[in-house]
Amino acid sequence: MDNKVNDALRLEDILNTTPTAVGWSSVSSGRIEYINKAFSELFGYDLSDISDLKTWYSHAFPELHANPHAVAPWDLVGDENGFSPDLKTKLLCKDGSVRQVGIRFSTVGDKRLWYFNDITDYWVAEERLRARSDMLEMVAKGSGLKEILNVIVKQVQRESPSSLCSILLFDATEQRLRLGASPDLPEFFNQAVDGIRIGMNVGSCGTAAYLGKRVIVEDIYTHDYWKNFTALAQKARVAACWSDPIMSSKGSLLGTFAIYKRTPASPTNKDLELINFACNLVSIAIESVKAQEELEHRAYFDHLTGLGNRGYFFEQCDNILKESLMKGFPLSILMMDVDNFKSVNDAFGHKTGDLVLQKLAQVSELILRREDIIARIGGEEFAVLLPTIDKKEVLRVAERLRKAIETSMVLSMDNQKVYFTVSLGIAYKDHGYCSVDDLLSIADNALYQSKSAGRNCIFSLEYNAHNSLF
Ligand code: GH3
Ligand code: MG
Ligand code: MG
Repeated sequence: MDNKVNDALRLEDILNTTPTAVGWSSVSSGRIEYINKAFSELFGYDLSDISDLKTWYSHAFPELHANPHAVAPWDLVGDENGFSPDLKTKLLCKDGSVRQVGIRFSTVGDKRLWYFNDITDYWVAEERLRARSDMLEMVAKGSGLKEILNVIVKQVQRESPSSLCSILLFDATEQRLRLGASPDLPEFFNQAVDGIRIGMNVGSCGTAAYLGKRVIVEDIYTHDYWKNFTALAQKARVAACWSDPIMSSKGSLLGTFAIYKRTPASPTNKDLELINFACNLVSIAIESVKAQEELEHRAYFDHLTGLGNRGYFFEQCDNILKESLMKGFPLSILMMDVDNFKSVNDAFGHKTGDLVLQKLAQVSELILRREDIIARIGGEEFAVLLPTIDKKEVLRVAERLRKAIETSMVLSMDNQKVYFTVSLGIAYKDHGYCSVDDLLSIADNALYQSKSAGRNCIFSLEYNAHNSLF
């Protein structure tokens, strides 16, 4: 037998036993002449799938048309010994997964020998660490939840390019799922899913949320959970959907994280690991954003009445005062103080006093417009900013408030009807600059006059830019 053939056979056999992915191509023709077993195991391709470098590049770099230079370094000849520099890149495998590899090649005559060093695990660990710190940074900077969730989805899709991910958020009051982030599923699909009620056979996500358990639907078109949604799935060109419930640290349902596939498929261990990572990241994101919002809310809102507090009122007024100056609209501040509130507390107890304050807030909010700002600025003192309406209209609103409060009541702890009234003071400004403090002190003066006049009445004063405060 020919010695050369023997040698070649031996070399291929030897290379087939190495754990490193290796192959060689012809420099002149670009034909791939050999790939070893480890190569096929790593990337999933046989020699018949990638007969030349061009075909291999187009499989491994589907975005090649957008970036033709991606493989330019691979065409280098190498150094004087024929060795290439160490190249790191992501390669697409036959099953759609991605591998991060270090590539080196050496050139001997017309043969180019390629070595692929799989560094995917290291890359994934690094990417996930980065994703986690990016997410926490976004939370700290006050980014919106949807923006953060979009970044997480993109991160997962980068790690698993054949996956389309969606995050749905659980609305516990309505028992519905709302769209969180789903950047690459079609708009019509997202719209159809948004607001869906959780329950059995409500796709993978509705069912996973309902059961509080992972749902793997390998083939949407044959599965009961999807029987009412096959047309929608067909239109969106999705065939598999694996969904995990996202749980809070206290064990309550926050939403679902789903991976969709274009073709029927079941998850590998690596897929399940990725889903676990994503759910964990999403639950941290949701809980952190909620905690941040809660802190902000506490800083600006009064827990008893749910109205804004003094700080909130000043901040809002400052902005609207500036706007009124620029656009030239009038505005008023109205102050309300509960009459003889101490007697209410003394007669019926502090708890009943609290009910009075809550009722007063509710009644007022029903009368005021959306653009009016109402806040509890002291114990039993409320302030309202009324932009854009004239003097007469402000008086009408104040009278409506006075009357509605006078006729409302709460039940005391021992079921007695408790009626209450307020005195009101109005500061009206037509034009010119003044501060929130100026307007509040005018309203306070007007309120003092209402109290002096016998309570349960309204007094109004006007700010005049030419005559200092009055
Ligand atoms: P006036 O008509 O002159 O305003 O009399 P008043 O009794 O309403 O005014 P005063 O300033 O003497 O008393 C206010 C009372 O409001 C005293 C305080 O205990 C009570 N108060 C303040 N904050 C709260 C609260 O959050 N809950 C309850 N129940 N009472 C409160
Ligand atoms: Mg008071
Ligand atoms: Mg009072």
